[in-house]
Amino acid sequence: MIEQYGWTDLLAAAFAPHARAGHIPGRVILQQRDGYLVATTDGEVRAKASGRLVHEAQEIGHPAVGDWVALSRSPHERAATIHAILPRRTAFVRRAAHSSRGLQIIAANIDVAFVVTSMNADLNPRRIQRYLAAAWQSGARPVVVLTKSDLCDDPQAQVAEIAAVASDCPVLMVSARQGLGLDALLDQVQPGETCVLIGSSGVGKSSLVNAFLNEDRMATQAIRVTDDQGRHTTSHRELILLPGGGMILDTPGIREVGLIDADEGVSAVFDDIERLPQDCRFNDCSHANEPGCAVRAALESGALDPDRWAHFQKLKLELAAAEEKAERIAKDAERRRLAALQKRYRATKRNDRGLRD
Ligand code: GDP
Ligand code: ZN
Repeated sequence: MIEQYGWTDLLAAAFAPHARAGHIPGRVILQQRDGYLVATTDGEVRAKASGRLVHEAQEIGHPAVGDWVALSRSPHERAATIHAILPRRTAFVRRAAHSSRGLQIIAANIDVAFVVTSMNADLNPRRIQRYLAAAWQSGARPVVVLTKSDLCDDPQAQVAEIAAVASDCPVLMVSARQGLGLDALLDQVQPGETCVLIGSSGVGKSSLVNAFLNEDRMATQAIRVTDDQGRHTTSHRELILLPGGGMILDTPGIREVGLIDADEGVSAVFDDIERLPQDCRFNDCSHANEPGCAVRAALESGALDPDRWAHFQKLKLELAAAEEKAERIAKDAERRRLAALQKRYRATKRNDRGLRD
């Protein structure tokens, strides 16, 4: 069973100490408010994180869908206990909202991230780049997917346009409606590998999942879970086996992952530093040697750690540079779009004249 979920010799080696402790391996396939559903050699079991693991979450995050974990089961408990998380190969991570240190793992051990955008929508290079950046950051291989090719007259032109934005990563074209391009997409995911679909709402991600599974997902993936009080609820697996041996991880959190504003991420971590300049005497204080500078005062009094300040400045510069690059690419795309429009316009005028003469 766990072979299907991508269990490898490498994982077995990493698991060895846990095996000696009498634990069994499993992969998290569903995360719920009060626990997890984990695929093991004995089938799917409900599980909860051990007290120690919850304590360690500050450092490594809580177990997430896609994680490989070490479990113990005792016959008189409803749920197994998760004692450890095996090192993650890749992870989509978000900073937890109200803490400067906590990490929230959205999905773990993802091999391929399909960045999905639709052919009938306006090309938005900046958004695509954001999703690509999120994919690169996670460690997964990004692949751009253009959906709804049935709605586009000149799909190759769009592919070329996107390829210019998506430096080096493959660009594929599909139509879930016509069943076109699905095999080429699945070919990107090797047996035992896990993929995710990220992209804005409405671009056709659910339709793709349904097309992959070749039937209604809700019907095939519904499972009954028993909670602590013994109540039955219906839920959906979030890690789904695909025909062909790969898996798709589909949690609500993953889909919009690229839209988390990078700027917001910095604010969440450096909230206190961002507020400091409000107390500088001058509005345009550069925090170099102006009188009444709150930042310098905080550095001198030791209230502000110089390393953190340096890190904050560096991040701000990087973000500004990334923003500038996205801006430039967006402008280029707009220029190309206008040029193409003009060409088409001139061509129709020529045609009109041709008809009159
Ligand atoms: P999601 O929000 O990204 O999951 O998008 P959905 O899968 O819900 O699709 C949004 C809309 O696009 C729905 O009305 C679908 O029927 C439509 N759609 C999805 N795939 C295709 C396609 O290949 N061709 C066409 N013409 N429409 C599609
Ligand atoms: Zn200042």
